[in-house]
Amino acid sequence: MGIEGVNSRIASIQSRIIALQTQKTEPTTTPGQQTTPAGGAGGGDFASYLSQAVSQTPGSGRTYSLDAKGIPTELTAYGNGKIPATALEQVGDTRHKLWAPAAEKLTQMIADAKKDGVTIGITDSYRPYAEQVDLAKRKGLYSQGGLAAKPGTSEHGWGMATDLDLNSKALSWVRQNADKYGFYNTASRESWHWGFKPEKVPGLVTS
Ligand SMILES: [Zn+2]
Repeated sequence: MGIEGVNSRIASIQSRIIALQTQKTEPTTTPGQQTTPAGGAGGGDFASYLSQAVSQTPGSGRTYSLDAKGIPTELTAYGNGKIPATALEQVGDTRHKLWAPAAEKLTQMIADAKKDGVTIGITDSYRPYAEQVDLAKRKGLYSQGGLAAKPGTSEHGWGMATDLDLNSKALSWVRQNADKYGFYNTASRESWHWGFKPEKVPGLVTS
């Protein structure tokens, strides 16, 4: 075999290795099957299950159900503004907390913005009921031209919204990219207010 033959043999082996690696990392189940516990997969390919789970950052592959109003059912039992700190998750290394999948997506968004040279700060996140009452007194109800939700109805009270500190560059970055992380500007008069929509994040919600 001449040198050309050896080179072509190496190229063929390399392409087979790449094909095998690609097969290994591709998810082998559909999103609808994600609720199957690893142990219940009948001794299936654990490595592929694991890589699939890890690739879905929020809750490491956990899926959630929502009630008719789009609130995760695991939160509705507590009530708006009455969620214990243990049921929430810290956003990066900040003092702010949100519902875990929202916290993880926001942490990721802030890190990705930073890579683009954009700084996203957080002004507010989960808001307990008493703070919602106080805010409504100070800022007035949104429905009456103010800036506060009716206490007990705020997206902040579910740990499902964040108020961001954005300069003009950051605001335009967030407007362009937030939906990739499941965040939407859900209060038209508040450019800083971004609500988390779990149903828009692929693989997060069970149907
Ligand atoms: Zn807000």
